[in-house]
Amino acid sequence: MKINAYGAYAGDKPLEPMQIIRRETGEHDVQIDIAYCGICHSDLHQVRAEWAGTQFPCVPGHEIVGRVAAVGAHVKGFKEGDLVGIGCIVDSCKHCEECESDLENYCDGMIGTYNFPTPDAPGWTQGGYSQKIVVHERYVLRIKHPEEQLAAVAPLLCAGITTYSPLRHWNAGPGKKVGIVGIGGLGHMGVKLAHAMGAHVVAFTTSDAKRDAAKALGADVVVVSRNADEMAAHAKSFDLIVNTVAAPHELNDYLALLKRDGTLTLVGAPATPHPSPEVFNLIFKRRSLAGSMIGGITETQEMLDFCAEHGIVSDIELIRADEINHAYERLLKGDVKYRFVIDNATLSA
Ligand code: NAP
Ligand code: ZN
Repeated sequence: MKINAYGAYAGDKPLEPMQIIRRETGEHDVQIDIAYCGICHSDLHQVRAEWAGTQFPCVPGHEIVGRVAAVGAHVKGFKEGDLVGIGCIVDSCKHCEECESDLENYCDGMIGTYNFPTPDAPGWTQGGYSQKIVVHERYVLRIKHPEEQLAAVAPLLCAGITTYSPLRHWNAGPGKKVGIVGIGGLGHMGVKLAHAMGAHVVAFTTSDAKRDAAKALGADVVVVSRNADEMAAHAKSFDLIVNTVAAPHELNDYLALLKRDGTLTLVGAPATPHPSPEVFNLIFKRRSLAGSMIGGITETQEMLDFCAEHGIVSDIELIRADEINHAYERLLKGDVKYRFVIDNATLSA
């Protein structure tokens, strides 16, 4: 099936309209008409070849929502017309310890929604800046939000789960002091989710202009990280800090804010490494430096249901497909509150 998409032919070329092929709907597959797709900073890292191994043409997008258009004969969980989502995972080995523990995100055979090997043409997966996608039902998520919120649900499929998973793993909740660093797509979801879980939330931003906005998202306190006095006021006080920043920076500044046994979890994935942190910043207070990658399918469904129950969606700016390149430029400047979402209906124009 030939469909319209938006992607790039090389890392130094802008994205442009193109056509791609989707496989026929297999017995266990769900075919989805994509309504909206969020723009994650990972899309930009990948399509501009900042991360190694980008295959071209590259069609990014892993914050996908839409309606089921068709299902294969053996599909049990979905039917035509259902509101569904696809996140960062479209396949995995299905039998390793990780898959059997509902942690497909850590399966060595995990197939990401774009730029991963597949038997389908052209040999690597292509993402949600496109009209349709065909995915095995195991990796399809159910959306329980009202339909009018659909565009704002899209970013939950990556930004939502990537912050929800570490917050749950490190027990964010009442009585815990939780920091979220970088108030972009991931960070603004982290603030909303940590607040809904009942934690005391501190937002760290480099942008003075986000001070009031971060409070409106649910932060109890906002710290402008360039201000050393504001940072020092929180020394040795955090249980958990989730760092979403998309560029290399000094981690010691955040390790110093953890109390004994506190954890700094990195989810931001800059193209070049952070400077190595000072070992004494770890050993003096038995602090941990950790990482976390998206979340498994079961946990992603749990996160979507949690958000539907608590009325949580992303704050978005809806754009046309032909505005994607401009949106990337604004993303690099931190000029978005807080996620661009593509109206995929504009792909057919
Ligand atoms: P984003 O919307 O661009 O947000 C990143 C935020 O980091 C910015 O809004 C900015 O917030 C802060 N920042 C401070 N200095 C920066 C700098 N020099 N360059 C860029 N940002 C800076 O990006 P995102 O979509 O949230 O993604 C964040 C990172 O997470 C990316 O590296 C992405 O690839 C990665 N990611 C990881 C996973 C995972 O599974 N671990 C999943 C998805 C994305 P302030 O203005 O508040 O300072
Ligand atoms: Zn993402």
